[in-house]
Amino acid sequence: MRLRNIPGSREAIAASEYVVQEEDMRKKRGNWREVFGNDQPLYIEVGMGKGRFITELAQTCPERNFVGIEKYSSVLLRALEKRAQLPDLKNLYFLRMEAEDLPEVFGENEVDGIYLNFSDPWPKDRHAKRRLPSKEFLARYHQILKPQGRVEFKTDNRALFDFALEQAKEAGWSIDAFTYDLHHTPEMMEGNVMTEYEERFSARGNPIHKVILHREFTIPDR
Ligand code: SAM
Repeated sequence: MRLRNIPGSREAIAASEYVVQEEDMRKKRGNWREVFGNDQPLYIEVGMGKGRFITELAQTCPERNFVGIEKYSSVLLRALEKRAQLPDLKNLYFLRMEAEDLPEVFGENEVDGIYLNFSDPWPKDRHAKRRLPSKEFLARYHQILKPQGRVEFKTDNRALFDFALEQAKEAGWSIDAFTYDLHHTPEMMEGNVMTEYEERFSARGNPIHKVILHREFTIPDR
């Protein structure tokens, strides 16, 4: 998702109390509990787009903390507009950042779960490393996840989904559950929160694929 550049979006982000700013985010590494002022488990969405999923999840799960990550200012701005309507919500912050930098912003064992929703497919082979479920990104997630932490990935793109399953296997991750048709798999649909893309593509009749992954914990190679 790349909206046209919206003038003033960078300034609005810089002024927002709901964004941990670029110059501060690395200082929070290992100390995200201080940002929230409590010890609740921490969940992040990487490539959140306009933030519908993580905002709804934060509302339904007040006993968890959430950080939504998006690289484009013009897209993040849309999430901030929604967020501003919910001043009582205490468990949701946003970061404008490139996901490659995740291990600089979150410490080892700091994150309880990672959501990837309708990640960009990057169809050319030479761009495979940019796909958020690639083994390069899985290695980054492994660095920040707790031992029991899960990566949950949803998409309607079958090629990207099959790629994710292959990459997970190659990188030594285990599959807890998966389906090629989430909306007709009641045991995986329980508590499902729709994303913007999920609503759009399922309305067109596309089946939604979902996988939940974890990796037995060993300190990753540096
Ligand atoms: N997750 C949302 C949904 O399901 O409706 C948005 C999906 S949209 C296709 C993917 C989003 O991920 C875009 O807004 C894009 O800017 C963001 N994104 C892609 N790669 C990223 C990266 N490496 N770091 C941060 N954000 C990224």
